[in-house]
Amino acid sequence: MDLGLKDKVAVVTGGSSGIGLATVRLLLGEGTKVAFCARDAVRLEAVAADLAAEFGDGAVLARAASVLDKDAMAGFADEVASTFGGTDILVTNAGQGRMSTFAETDDAAWNEELELKFFSQIHPIRAFQPMLSDSDCGAIVGINSLLAYQPEPYMVCTSAARAGVQNLLKSLANELAPKIRVNSILLGVIHSGQWERRFAARADKSQSREEFFASQPAAQKAALGRFGQPEEAAAAIAFLASPAASYVTGARLEVSGGVSRFV
Ligand code: NDP
Repeated sequence: MDLGLKDKVAVVTGGSSGIGLATVRLLLGEGTKVAFCARDAVRLEAVAADLAAEFGDGAVLARAASVLDKDAMAGFADEVASTFGGTDILVTNAGQGRMSTFAETDDAAWNEELELKFFSQIHPIRAFQPMLSDSDCGAIVGINSLLAYQPEPYMVCTSAARAGVQNLLKSLANELAPKIRVNSILLGVIHSGQWERRFAARADKSQSREEFFASQPAAQKAALGRFGQPEEAAAAIAFLASPAASYVTGARLEVSGGVSRFV
């Protein structure tokens, strides 16, 4: 099936690692021009150089910027406009989860997490909305988590924030229609930089890599019994972002290996 992504322009926030990087690679492979951002300029430039060598200089634009910096997002949008002439697709992916119970989450942590979850959507969407509206296939894919519907006791703050983000994305699907489609991805456990950091920080250092990565899908009772790979999430993201999904908006697509307990 042709997803219709050739010669489109996509922007992926948090594109230097994990799910974001897999999405950037998949889109480039489809012939899409891709701009991506992340905070760590050294890692970003290294990733961009590899991608430019593989897919060509003219297809890739990387900008060191935080999605929490409104002005930086506006500058990123200006650079994408002058480089690629517009934007068809925005994947709001940048971020990470916070592992803490209610008792472990102080007010500063709540503020930090709520700011990250909401403004990692709000700032990029505001910055790129005019160009997405001008596209004949404008699409936003908001990367969210199954925690939005099914909170985990060890991620209380993140789960609550995820529920709010899901609500926001649904509102945007109505408010930005018919020019821009807005859909969401509900992730379960996907092997990425984030999970490598959690493995490195595990409380029980006697736990082997194999034991750690087997324990998480088991704890969440994932029907498929394993971690997902970033490429498996990227495939779902690319579909929702693409013209092939032209009649899909306000939808959520679960990529969790079957973690959800609701119907
Ligand atoms: P990774 O840590 O592998 O990738 C995260 C990416 O986001 C990196 O490129 C990172 O680069 C970038 N990033 C983080 N914060 C910012 C910021 N403020 N501004 C710009 N870029 C930023 O993690 P994942 O691939 O797992 O995460 C991707 C998304 O998926 C996240 O939003 C995460 O919360 C979500 N998710 C992941 C799940 C999983 O199981 N993997 C489950 C549920 C949700 P840098 O640090 O240089 O800024």
